Amino acid sequence: MPVRERVSLARCAGYDLEEVEASLRAALAPLGGIEAFVRPGQRVVLKPNLLRPASPDAAATTHPAVVAAVARLVVAAGAEALILDSSGGPNSTAYLTMVHRTTGMTWAAEASGARLVADLHATQVPLAKGLILHRVDLVREAIEADVLINLPKLKTHGLTGLTVAVKNLFGLVPGVAKVGYHGRMQEPEAFAKGLLDVSLASGAALHIVDAVVGMEGNGPSAGTPREVGAILAGHSALAVDVAAAALVGRDPLDVRTTRIAAEAGLCSGRIEDVEIAGDSLEGLQGAPFRLPEGYAPEGHAPQRQSLFGRIATGWFSRQLLVTPQAGERCTGCGLCARHCPVDAITMENGRGVGARARMDAARCIRCYCCHELCPALAVELRKPVVGRLLGRF
Ligand code: SF4
Ligand code: SF4
Repeated sequence: MPVRERVSLARCAGYDLEEVEASLRAALAPLGGIEAFVRPGQRVVLKPNLLRPASPDAAATTHPAVVAAVARLVVAAGAEALILDSSGGPNSTAYLTMVHRTTGMTWAAEASGARLVADLHATQVPLAKGLILHRVDLVREAIEADVLINLPKLKTHGLTGLTVAVKNLFGLVPGVAKVGYHGRMQEPEAFAKGLLDVSLASGAALHIVDAVVGMEGNGPSAGTPREVGAILAGHSALAVDVAAAALVGRDPLDVRTTRIAAEAGLCSGRIEDVEIAGDSLEGLQGAPFRLPEGYAPEGHAPQRQSLFGRIATGWFSRQLLVTPQAGERCTGCGLCARHCPVDAITMENGRGVGARARMDAARCIRCYCCHELCPALAVELRKPVVGRLLGRF
């Protein structure tokens, strides 16, 4: 009989640092405590979700109290704690400093004795058994650390349904290199395989999820904060993702990465095959999370078709798929245009005041990077009129 992966669950009602630390200790106890993962003298990298420069209240990034609490345990275990993530934007020191300050990571480092990492140079990690990638470029400091601890935020995501442990590790691909991965793996299924490969290549030993306040709806950037009241922890990113999906009332196989992993035989994707330790799942479950508008877990896989069929299917599928469009809040900064992996965004009227980003729906591969990155939260995900009339998506 296969071994059931253990995922531990601990109730956590708010972001008071002492309360978070107590919940964290409770979550780690069934896994052997932090000492089961960290030994004195080791260099331990903590990888939160620092998607963009957003206040912790926006629930777009891992809360600094969770990062500080984990770092305090690591430091108390006699190890060095480093906080590292490559946000979606440029990798300049000025931008990273702004991200660290806005997301509360500067405070988290000061409160715990951790060090913030601004060196995001990459190293190449070979993958003998990747689903789609044979090597990946990941931030060297994370790969060369003695221990990597993944600290995702529980949120919805337009490409994968939910972003939890597996998806968060894509942040180890440095800055604009992410754009290249989106460009090379344009179909959602291919991208999900790439995410699973990156997760495997990272070698993360422990995954601790900030599910105190998550995000539902149009995540990962512009959704609605939603109280969940929990911290999850586990060895396996896939098992943690299955438990997190069940916690927010979704079928774990609605998460694209989990479904692809189940098809590849990496997991069953069933909550029954995960051993939940600590607090009960049922005691923390609320109404199901709303997934992003237009998200369909089965994606849109390419099929062999005639030229006419391809044109008709392409037009038809574009009517059903949610399309990004810059709304009134667009400031014309041009960030989305610089980072679109397929150059589907042009700037009308140049840059700055009076300018507006325009997304080409025919060229767009629906990676939703522009939606994630926009500092003004101006990118709206809209259903085309035909899709709305059909009412299926
Ligand atoms: S949509 Fe957002 S990122 Fe793009 S130009 Fe407008 S404000 Fe900048
Ligand atoms: S327009 Fe936005 S969603 Fe479409 S490919 Fe470009 S960045 Fe991705």
